[in-house]
Amino acid sequence: MTEALIGLGSNLGEREQNLRSAVASLGHLGRILAVSPVFETEPMYHEDQGLFLNCVVSLETVLEPRALLEKLQSIESSLGRERRVRYGPRTIDLDILFYGALVVSGPGLEIPHPRIAERLFVLAPLNEVRPELVHPVLGVSVSQMLSALRTDKGVVRRPDLSVGLSP
Ligand code: ADP
Ligand code: MG
Repeated sequence: MTEALIGLGSNLGEREQNLRSAVASLGHLGRILAVSPVFETEPMYHEDQGLFLNCVVSLETVLEPRALLEKLQSIESSLGRERRVRYGPRTIDLDILFYGALVVSGPGLEIPHPRIAERLFVLAPLNEVRPELVHPVLGVSVSQMLSALRTDKGVVRRPDLSVGLSP
């Protein structure tokens, strides 16, 4: 059993429902240990698109990384994701952020996810569930990466929204 941290994002359609459906599907891939609060975030890279909702799920799973990625991609497809523009709008995006302390740098799969340290929309929710988790390559914790960004611009906690398994 390994703890995988999965980053979820949605900026098309019923965003809260998309996250909720994805969390429910993740529950079939192992045991969910934690679901972060939801954050509403400004898009990075292509800024002319709608605001995202983001959260992070801690999932204990027996699936190996590539099998897990395939399952995440089928959940994305089942929720109606179409791949058009990189970093463009999507009903759901599911990224493997960490997989235990494993480092993978193969084609089509990089773990830890290569852009964690620059993404407030990942670090803010991740810090709510695993602040002490140390990045196996950079050697710094999630809370240290978050403080290093020195801003909370464009990322707002939405305590009125909840996508965890319990009501
Ligand atoms: P992005 O999430 O970067 O906006 P996509 O979701 O379209 O873009 O993913 C592009 C590709 O990223 C996927 O086909 C997948 O093979 C690859 N990828 C590499 N590492 C990871 C990872 N850790 N988690 C999810 N996808 C990954
Ligand atoms: Mg992705």
